[in-house]
Amino acid sequence: MTGSEFDLAFFKEQGFKRTQCPKCKRYFWSLGDWATCGEPPCEEYTFIGHSPMNQRLTLHEMREAYLSFFEENGHGRVKRYPIVARWRDDVFFTQASIYDFQPWVLNGVIEPPFNPLTISQTCVRFNDIDNVGKTGRHFTFFEMCAHHAFNKEGRFIYFKDRTVELCHRFFTERLGTDPGKMRYVEEWWEGGGNAGPCVEVILDGVEVATLVFMMYRDTPEGRKPMEMTVVDTGYGLERMTWVSQGVSSAYEAVFGPVVEWLKGLACVRPDPLVLTEYSKVAGATNMRTAADVRRIRETTAERIGIGYEELMRTVAPLEDIYVICDHSRALMLMLNDGVVPSNVREGYFARMLVRRALRSIRSLDLDIRLAEVVSRQIDHFQDIFPELRENREDILGLVQVEEDRYFETLGRGKQLVDRLVKDLREGEKLPVERLIELYDSHGLNPEIAKEFAPDRIDVPDNFYIQVAARHERPEAATEASGDRPERMPETRMLYYEDPELVEFEGTVIAEVDGGVVLDQTAFYPEGGGQEWDLGTLDGKKVCRVIKIKTAIVHFVEGENPRIGAKVRGTIDLERRQQLMRHHTAAHLINGVARTLFGNHVWQAGAHKAVDQARLDITHFENLSTEQRDLLEREVNRVVLQDRPVHIQFMQRDQAERLHGYRLYQGGAVPGKVIRVVEVEGLDAEACGGLHCSHTGMVGPVRIARTKRIQDGVVRIEYTAGMAAVAGMQADKRLVEGLGDMLNVPAEGLPEAVGRLQEELREQRKGIERLSAALNELSVKALVGSAPKVGPVRVVVHEALPGEDPEEMSKRLASVPGTVAVIGVPGERARLLVSRSSDVKLDCRKALKRMMAVMGGGGGGKPDFAQGGGGDASRLRDALAGAFEIISKEIEG
Ligand SMILES: [Zn+2]
Ligand SMILES: [Zn+2]
Repeated sequence: MTGSEFDLAFFKEQGFKRTQCPKCKRYFWSLGDWATCGEPPCEEYTFIGHSPMNQRLTLHEMREAYLSFFEENGHGRVKRYPIVARWRDDVFFTQASIYDFQPWVLNGVIEPPFNPLTISQTCVRFNDIDNVGKTGRHFTFFEMCAHHAFNKEGRFIYFKDRTVELCHRFFTERLGTDPGKMRYVEEWWEGGGNAGPCVEVILDGVEVATLVFMMYRDTPEGRKPMEMTVVDTGYGLERMTWVSQGVSSAYEAVFGPVVEWLKGLACVRPDPLVLTEYSKVAGATNMRTAADVRRIRETTAERIGIGYEELMRTVAPLEDIYVICDHSRALMLMLNDGVVPSNVREGYFARMLVRRALRSIRSLDLDIRLAEVVSRQIDHFQDIFPELRENREDILGLVQVEEDRYFETLGRGKQLVDRLVKDLREGEKLPVERLIELYDSHGLNPEIAKEFAPDRIDVPDNFYIQVAARHERPEAATEASGDRPERMPETRMLYYEDPELVEFEGTVIAEVDGGVVLDQTAFYPEGGGQEWDLGTLDGKKVCRVIKIKTAIVHFVEGENPRIGAKVRGTIDLERRQQLMRHHTAAHLINGVARTLFGNHVWQAGAHKAVDQARLDITHFENLSTEQRDLLEREVNRVVLQDRPVHIQFMQRDQAERLHGYRLYQGGAVPGKVIRVVEVEGLDAEACGGLHCSHTGMVGPVRIARTKRIQDGVVRIEYTAGMAAVAGMQADKRLVEGLGDMLNVPAEGLPEAVGRLQEELREQRKGIERLSAALNELSVKALVGSAPKVGPVRVVVHEALPGEDPEEMSKRLASVPGTVAVIGVPGERARLLVSRSSDVKLDCRKALKRMMAVMGGGGGGKPDFAQGGGGDASRLRDALAGAFEIISKEIEG
């Protein structure tokens, strides 16, 4: 057997044997006499009830055992990176420890924090969400323990040999595993444009770790060796804890006190035998689809010798408990790391977790709030991740708001479902598309929709995987590309060197997209939500300035100066200063809002023009008037404190160490060096915009209004400096103008308007009284002059403006021996026929005959009918024939 990637000195010295697994045909190394590679489905779990390790560790103990072992062996211990991967623009969430170092460490832009290093990285994945709770081993939130080494030319750390040795020693020396039990399976790994050999580490049927050796990268010309080779390991913290405890499922091993508390509340005491068999069967099944989950259950039931239904009675409540545990852990960290639940982007997944967890709480019939569960998770984790202690109130507040929203949704849910189901044909089921719509647009879980219409709704087993897949990645930014050279020319950006520079000279070096590129310029281009500078180039008006890669492109009115020409530029300083004030104010508002409302506040967008500006922040509801005023006050306080604004170019890693990932308020930024704008003691952001050097220069900041522009995002419209002064003056003029109209000074306005309203009320009452009197008089006059049919008076009347026809009709019918026909003119003319109770007449029949003249319709009761429509111009004709119709009806 030659040519193995893993003919390692370590294996040879220790006496490892290389064997081919007869089942899966893969090669593996071990010290024992093993027939197969040991990985399911070649073998089943054998550790349940008999842990191969000589110690039982909790999740927290296992993490510490791991990190301290690698620390003792020369690795720097690195704090976890956030779960939201702000330093990348291609993914929302951190899904493996290597994400922390992609792309900036791997492409050589920055150095890793230590080399080699060890970390326990918090991760979330949603591609198995429907399996969580059901398989004994799937999680949305998990920790990946890892040791990484980055080998560059001239600085070799370690590669395959040392990696396998460290792994082997960790399991055998530190965790006390019998060395003969360890099996190392040879594999090949590919992902994210990289590839290399890897080994899967199998212990008693479980893959406890994967050791990847990245050494190739894919290029358009094919696969090439990497300049830097990388040791990328991943040890499942949850799995190692599970194996160490040898209990029936990973959930039982890692959910700690929270799972025990929930079991007690729900009075669930599972049979360990059932769980053990279930986990073994699940472990041996390659889990891909929901059909796999069903097969696991059937096989388990068969092996234990009970019916499927009986098995489900045991496992179903447990599955709900596990879902609550898993989702509350994931939520705790997602909210801590700055996700606000919503229906888009990262927020979508937080909302999905809340709704699924609440559904499970509901199906267990537990009388608890989700925030209570999350609070217990924080108790369990805050010593490990101290940031949880700091953000506790913020996290619980977000959960409560989201929980309340969910109950509102439930209230509307039945109506929504009824409406959709009504349109189905006999026997037809609601299409999955509609279910997804119910969930995506209305937040209604399909399982709950099914409760409203059990016969009409089937929920696909992989429902949440389907919806999660739709929201998985950020939308790729589309970059417009015009007529551009292969290599962009480079412009020296004078505005960074001296933001006060208003006159400069430059040479035209290229034309791009119809615009002029200079060797150097003081014109700030559009960017970071800040509008571009105006001014002139050789006297020609500059209308727009943009940045394309390294080039600043100026668009001028009229003909472009020719390439090679020297030009003189002038900047409109007043506009520039106003833009700087607005931009700096955005940082102040963002920083103050985060201080006031919680760490979940992030910038979600911004635009700074000359006369107005806006900042969008992530927050769960619009600001109240009090909050808006408080924000405005505190921002102006920071202005008055005249704090310095430090702007410096920093190495990316240094900036991250100093300020954390809050730097990336405007999204991920490229490059080895980033420009950091720091308002002392308040806010630091990676930002390419132009800023005031002190907060005092921002001038007054005035928040015009705030509004919720989308789920989880609040827009703050503001002005600063002279634009704020203009706004305040406009407000004053508005108030003064109103005062002039009412002839009172501004401070007298509330009283004057109050008086006006009172007068209006009085007048309205007067009009009502007059109208009643008028009706009374009209009724008397009409009855007195009405022609008779026998003893019955027949009043026929066309309503006058100001009369209330309904009221008159009623009053006339209250006079004994009276029939009243009232015509109401108008675009849609109406007829009202009423009678007193002692007259024998069917008003409906009479009305019908009168309406025949106009061609309209109507109806009512025997003593009152009304109609309308048809030809309005024939109302008078209808009234003219009314007496005759009534007399015929009465006599007949
Ligand atoms: Zn095998
Ligand atoms: Zn900025």
